[in-house]
Amino acid sequence: MTVSSVQTAPRALAIPDLSAASAALTLTATVLVASLAYYFLGYDQGAVSVFGSDTHVHEFVHDARHFLGFPCH
Ligand SMILES: [Zn+2]
Repeated sequence: MTVSSVQTAPRALAIPDLSAASAALTLTATVLVASLAYYFLGYDQGAVSVFGSDTHVHEFVHDARHFLGFPCH
């Protein structure tokens, strides 16, 4: 068995847009999403819940909260 030497045309690499405005928008969106995830995983419960005294979000992320070491009850 021999190694074939099939030549393929070079592929163009996708170069991301690295402008300052694009980077700022990406970082802002990342911080916003991470902050929301951090709040809902770590602090949203009971009386201080965004949705009033409803604990649906708390119960939904309850196992993740304990897995990550956030105090709960
Ligand atoms: Zn708990």
